[in-house]
Amino acid sequence: MSAEKTHPSVSPVLVLFRDDFRLADHPALFGACTTGQPVLCVYVHDPETTRGGAIGWWLAQACTALADALSEKGGTLHHLSGHTPDVVAEFAQAAGVDTVFWNRRYDPTGKAQDTALKARLEQQGISVQSCAARLLHEPWTIRTGAGTPYRVFTAWWKAARAMGNPGRCLPAPRQITFSPLPADARALTLRTLPPAPPLPAGASAAEADWPCTEADAQDTLTTFVEDNLAHYIQEHDRPDKDTTSRLSPYLRAGLLSARQVWHAVSTAATTPALAENAEKFLSELGWRDFAWMQLFYEPDLAWRNLRPEFDHMPWQKSPALLAAWQQGQTGYPLVDAGMRQLYATGWMHNRVRMVVASFLTKHLLTDWREGEQWFQARLVDADPAQNAMNWQWCAGTGIDASPWFRIFNPVGQSEKFDPTGAYIRTWVPELRQMPDKLIHTPWKADASLCRQIGFTPGRSYPNPIVDLKLARGIALECWKNLPDRK
Ligand code: FAD
Repeated sequence: MSAEKTHPSVSPVLVLFRDDFRLADHPALFGACTTGQPVLCVYVHDPETTRGGAIGWWLAQACTALADALSEKGGTLHHLSGHTPDVVAEFAQAAGVDTVFWNRRYDPTGKAQDTALKARLEQQGISVQSCAARLLHEPWTIRTGAGTPYRVFTAWWKAARAMGNPGRCLPAPRQITFSPLPADARALTLRTLPPAPPLPAGASAAEADWPCTEADAQDTLTTFVEDNLAHYIQEHDRPDKDTTSRLSPYLRAGLLSARQVWHAVSTAATTPALAENAEKFLSELGWRDFAWMQLFYEPDLAWRNLRPEFDHMPWQKSPALLAAWQQGQTGYPLVDAGMRQLYATGWMHNRVRMVVASFLTKHLLTDWREGEQWFQARLVDADPAQNAMNWQWCAGTGIDASPWFRIFNPVGQSEKFDPTGAYIRTWVPELRQMPDKLIHTPWKADASLCRQIGFTPGRSYPNPIVDLKLARGIALECWKNLPDRK
């Protein structure tokens, strides 16, 4: 028997959870509770949207955490399986639901599914309440004077700031009156849940790195605001300091909302210095919205060059070079440290993401889509909009992207952003004994030093897989020869 509090005579309302695994600042849940009707909470295992890789593992953890949180309040997260528009419509009918609440999705599949579901439900006489929850501002709300979507971040950000703070956060409902599950609907729920996607091979460190409850997300936010916001401008580019917020996986799974982050950071900006740091941080959060705005208007963001001249780029198709990059065996210590951090933990510092992306696309002349897909498989924060937009940014193929001719030198970046090699030593243990001045260029170590520290170039650690100067020249030449280059 369920311990849920019942209201048998009133129709229930249904809340659909998708990538918003939290109770606080959840407009759909809050709206459902406000009706005063009993609530059914539902999650759909939908083959069209179910993800594998590290993100699949992470979302499954977040879903379990939500189920536990609902259970603590005396309720149940009901699991359905199948195509969302079909199974939710069928379940809602069987349960006698009169309104379905959800938070809006902006990716092509999510949008198509929700449009179809809304039509089905309304045909059945069931109302739909869709809510804004994922972003600071909905993608269509910030437009140029000409009414078109912005194509440049700085102009978009200025317009976003002019709109003032995003709406206030909603509290978690103090009490949820859960509906009992009618017998007809019970038959449609899963008794046994599908096995959660495992962590990808080698990524076991992710388990300890990413505790996964709404409270953990809040703790991460509080720690960042108290300990690191004050030096965000100075340190956010330093992988060795590791003082960015590390909120991306929590935002991705919706264990906390962007609005919650915004307000926590804005409220903490009590001095001019803090306000300056807060503004920089908020603009980074703004990039998240900007990415989702791009995906909303460019649904093929993850596979189409937004600058069509790049359709003619003569990408190399070398499985050996791609594998060396993926496995952190390129011979460039910062690139390898980043790729190994990603492999082991499902996360990588933003500065290093930019360096490895530039290295793959420019020095290895490999199609950015290879990198995008590898990140999608390995990141615990793998996000369809942020990942695709950033890859197109790094490769120079996107709108408002870093130009192709800006090619990061992985050695220079390493010297600048990991000056003592602390980050490299963490992820590339073969180089731990290397003196600071050679940690970025271990191939320059002379024979006597190598003997002294027991280092065999090419055996202990790979020699560089490409010559930076040569590869840079080829990348620039290929770009100059693109037809219709702008
Ligand atoms: P903080 O510096 O603390 O920033 C706070 C938040 O702002 C982040 O959590 C994130 O939501 C947002 N943000 C910061 N930088 C960016 C940015 N450049 N673009 C969009 N949003 C940003 N981020 C993802 O969340 N998912 C991805 O799949 C993803 N793929 C990326 C791929 C590449 C090639 C690059 C260069 C960047 C990618 N990013 C992605 C953006 C960025 O690297 C991460 O959001 C950031 O490293 C997360 O760490 P943090 O939360 O400590 O960041």
